Amino acid sequence: MRISVAASGVCHADIGTARTPGATPGHEIAGAGADAELGDGVARRRVGDWRVGDPGVAGWFGGSCRHCASCRRGGIVHCPDRKIPGLSCPGGWAESVTVPADALAHIPDGLDVFDTAPMGCAGVTTFNPLCHARLPVWGRVAVFGLRPHGRLTLIGVDGGCIHVLAGLVMNGQSIGGHLTGSAQDTEDAMAFALTYGIRLVAERLPLEYGNEAIGLIRSVAPRFRLVFDTTTTR
Ligand SMILES: [Zn+2]
Ligand SMILES: [Zn+2]
Repeated sequence: MRISVAASGVCHADIGTARTPGATPGHEIAGAGADAELGDGVARRRVGDWRVGDPGVAGWFGGSCRHCASCRRGGIVHCPDRKIPGLSCPGGWAESVTVPADALAHIPDGLDVFDTAPMGCAGVTTFNPLCHARLPVWGRVAVFGLRPHGRLTLIGVDGGCIHVLAGLVMNGQSIGGHLTGSAQDTEDAMAFALTYGIRLVAERLPLEYGNEAIGLIRSVAPRFRLVFDTTTTR
C-alpha cells in the first residue's frame, strides 16, 4: 500500500541506515492517507480492511514472509525474512512510501496523525514489553532509558553480554526484551495512548533536515523525539 507521508520520526537506528549509500531512512511513518493507493492484491482481498484515504502508521516492522515457523506461530516480528523500512525497502523520510498492508496500523479517530509516527517504533517498542510483563493491575513500572529532562532513549542490545545483579535473580525477577511489534501491537499502543491521554512531545523538522537530524541524534542533543513534518519547508 502506498501512503502519503505526513510525519516521519527520527530513530537512533536511522544513523546506521543513513550510512548505506542510496538508502532512504525512516521507519516511524504516519500517512495522512489522502492520496493513498491500494495495490491490486489489497483491493481484491481487502487486507486489514484498508480503504483509500485511511490514515495509517508503519514502523520498524515492515512485513513478514507469512509462511515460516515464526509467522505461522504468530510471531511475525521474529520472521527471519521480515522487512524493515529504510533497510529492506525505501523508508519514510520521503513524501510517499510503499509498505505491505499488513504492516500498516490504523490510526484511531481522536489522535493527530502527526503524533502517531513514532508509535511505529519507539512507541510500540516501549508499550509491547509492558503488555507482556504480566504486571499486576495498578502495578508500577520503571522504563529504563526515560532519562531526566524529558529524553527518551531506547536501549538496543547488540548481542553482547548484559550484567545482571544477583539480587534480581534471588527475588525471582526477570529481564525481558521485545523487538518492536506488529501493526496490531501498534494499534493497541495507539488505543492505549488515546484512552490515557498520552501524546507525543516532539521537535518538528522540515524533511530537508535529514543530515541535521542525524547529527543531532549522534550528539544525543535532541530534547524530544525529532519528527519530520512534510507540510513544512526550510
Ligand atoms: Zn526505530
Ligand atoms: Zn516468516
